[in-house]
Amino acid sequence: MSDFYKEVCMCCGQQTLKKRFSFKTTDTYICKNSCIFSVPKINTNKLYTPEYFKNYYEELVNEQTKMHQKVIPFLKKYLKTGSVLDYGCGIGTFLLNLEKESFKNNVGIDVSEYSISIAESKSSMSNFSTNRDFLETKKFDCISFIDSVAHIEDINNLLSKLIKDNLIENGIVLIRTPNINSLYVWYARVIGYFLPKRFLGSLFFVPNRLFLFNKKSIELFLEKHGLMIEEYYIEPEYKKISSNFSNGNYIKSMLVDFFRITIPSILNKNNSITLIARLKK
Ligand SMILES: [Zn+2]
Repeated sequence: MSDFYKEVCMCCGQQTLKKRFSFKTTDTYICKNSCIFSVPKINTNKLYTPEYFKNYYEELVNEQTKMHQKVIPFLKKYLKTGSVLDYGCGIGTFLLNLEKESFKNNVGIDVSEYSISIAESKSSMSNFSTNRDFLETKKFDCISFIDSVAHIEDINNLLSKLIKDNLIENGIVLIRTPNINSLYVWYARVIGYFLPKRFLGSLFFVPNRLFLFNKKSIELFLEKHGLMIEEYYIEPEYKKISSNFSNGNYIKSMLVDFFRITIPSILNKNNSITLIARLKK
């Protein structure tokens, strides 16, 4: 047996790897428990440029707020009010929306000086920083990751540390992240045989999203960190994948979009999962 199979899955923590794909920017692994994770070959922090935050945050504030209007009542079922640490806060929209619901003493962390400066300019009630050390031993009622877990390379160390140092006893972990079903993975792998490798890479969202879960694999990932899911919902993602993959002619672009966007959206309609988890007692 090759050494590869002896490696441990970075999601579920088990020795269950079954497939490895090598891309220009990442090595991507699939495990028997349907976890998908990528080990980057590049410095992923460099991907989060001002341009990135303009395209995925600033232009989507209304769509994000609409998404938060479902996430916040979901959170309030478990936490009426309190403090939230939003990890991967982008331009701070989630915390700004929580402030309106009287959540106070919140902190947002992100890698980008640009996005943090926007967040700071909009909020007078929450604090923002690019530096994890800023958190020290401050305790929060909830730690949230709104579409950020998938992007954080050292999520395993980080999550352990945050739970230990920054979450109150019986505190809440709120996660929203892509939900990738097995039909989608099967499709991506079939496409990988027939079309150029970059299609497979794009269907696995490399190099931006390093961890792709479904209900089962995120349950195993959280269990590894001593967390148990209390409740979850799945729904279609609010933002559509942009169709700028091909700069070729019109017919070629249509075909590319069909294989890369239309079919996946039919196979994996509810492609986002939102969940509340707590430490097991
Ligand atoms: Zn796994």
